[in-house]
Amino acid sequence: MALDSNSYDVPVARTVADLRAEIAEWRKAGLRVGLVPTMGALHAGHISLVDLALQHVDRVVVSIFVNPTQFAAHEDFGAYPRVEDADATALSGHGHLIFAPNADEMYPQGFSTTITVAGVSEPLEGSFRPTHFAGVATVVSKLLLQTLPDVAVFGEKDYQQLMVIQRMVSDLNIPVTIIPAPTRREADGLALSSRNAYLNPEQRAIAAKLNVIVRETAARAAQGEDIATVTKEGERRIIEAGFDSVDYLSIRHTSSLAAFETGRVTAPARILVAAKIGKTRLIDNMPV
Ligand code: AMP
Repeated sequence: MALDSNSYDVPVARTVADLRAEIAEWRKAGLRVGLVPTMGALHAGHISLVDLALQHVDRVVVSIFVNPTQFAAHEDFGAYPRVEDADATALSGHGHLIFAPNADEMYPQGFSTTITVAGVSEPLEGSFRPTHFAGVATVVSKLLLQTLPDVAVFGEKDYQQLMVIQRMVSDLNIPVTIIPAPTRREADGLALSSRNAYLNPEQRAIAAKLNVIVRETAARAAQGEDIATVTKEGERRIIEAGFDSVDYLSIRHTSSLAAFETGRVTAPARILVAAKIGKTRLIDNMPV
């Protein structure tokens, strides 16, 4: 087994063959396996996913792959933080194997398949990042087939992504249990994100206001106020707080992410937001 151990605390597999060889050993020993897909630059939110997986399985694979196909040409693929040594240190005592393939291993010459999930992929993030969820669905289906885990954990931080993956796994009968994990936040409520590293101190202070406004908007909708009125007011407050633009602030049915035709919250709902400070785009969501 050509595991790349170097100075790492957690061994790293670079190829699908090495990943599968290690997992085969675990399976021989009767162990259950979990997968936590990530793009690296790990923070406490990612580690909480690994720890949640460990409540269900004996061994956890953490994939680290900045997936080019889920970024549009104008997005931050090149700038996205890549800090594998720090990630390996952060996983010490949590994960058992890092799977860190390069792009050629994931997308060899001639790669031609794309998975698209209609419906739930289309609104919100889908309308602002039209190719994003096809990139996500394709890479996650590959990771699930490469690893064949018993469970895979995804954060509610990327709520629409979680809904897309659940739909895909159900539609394609992929034999894995998807476990949602709650969003981990800073003390001021800002959702942890690898992209928070892009924020300067002034922007960081502005960013903290997003979760407060979203929570207050959700509370008003939950009390029966008109959805369009409270979300419009919320968007105005986000701009007043110092954000440069709001892609969406929207209240949707919990799993389909369909809009409420009635204009009021009449069933379990989720509020979702995407807003930009300078070049940094932040997303957040919470139950209504
Ligand atoms: P990423 O590396 O951003 O692709 O995220 C990898 C996984 O970690 C996804 O399932 C995310 O939803 C999850 N995640 C990201 N941020 C958080 C957070 N603050 N709390 C919990 N999970 C998170």
